[in-house]
Amino acid sequence: MHKGLIEFVESCEFPTEIANFHLYAFTENATNKEHLAIALGSFDPSVPTLARIHCQCLTGESLFSLRCVCRFQLTESLKKIAKKGCGIVFYLQQEGRNIGLLNKIKAYKLQDQGLDTVEANHKLGFTDDPRDYKIVSAIAKYLGVNSVDLMTNNPRKITSLEENGLLVNKRIPIKSKTTKYNRDYLKTKAKKLGHLL
Ligand SMILES: [Zn+2]
Repeated sequence: MHKGLIEFVESCEFPTEIANFHLYAFTENATNKEHLAIALGSFDPSVPTLARIHCQCLTGESLFSLRCVCRFQLTESLKKIAKKGCGIVFYLQQEGRNIGLLNKIKAYKLQDQGLDTVEANHKLGFTDDPRDYKIVSAIAKYLGVNSVDLMTNNPRKITSLEENGLLVNKRIPIKSKTTKYNRDYLKTKAKKLGHLL
């Protein structure tokens, strides 16, 4: 359906602390962004694949930030896939809900001054959540996946996948970890972005 949206670049073995995954690398033709699929097991097109769409978060995943829950949720989803022995994390280069690293820092500063995460995005000239998931459908097709059991709290991800030809068989809620630094952020995600927390 989305032929030409992405280009497969390379794949390799990917041993991690959680499991020995297989890593696939893609480029997105329209943006030159680099996206990954962290995969385990083999995929049967007639069986829904356990999956998560995860957006890269340097501050959370590499720098241990408590302002978001990305690191916790990435670890959770990789562990669930390892336990099942099969699944994919679609790891997208869409830092800060796709506003980029520097704008994310600007948005954090605005939140320090009292705005919520949605108001901060608007103040910087972005929509509340400018992420794009149609590449996920394209990557899934490439890997021979027709339907997913999606680990998410975000109904927008489900709608977008289905609009782009990837069936979501069921939603599997994913845990968040509340801290005093992300409590308001999670509340805003539930109230303004429709997340099911
Ligand atoms: Zn994060």
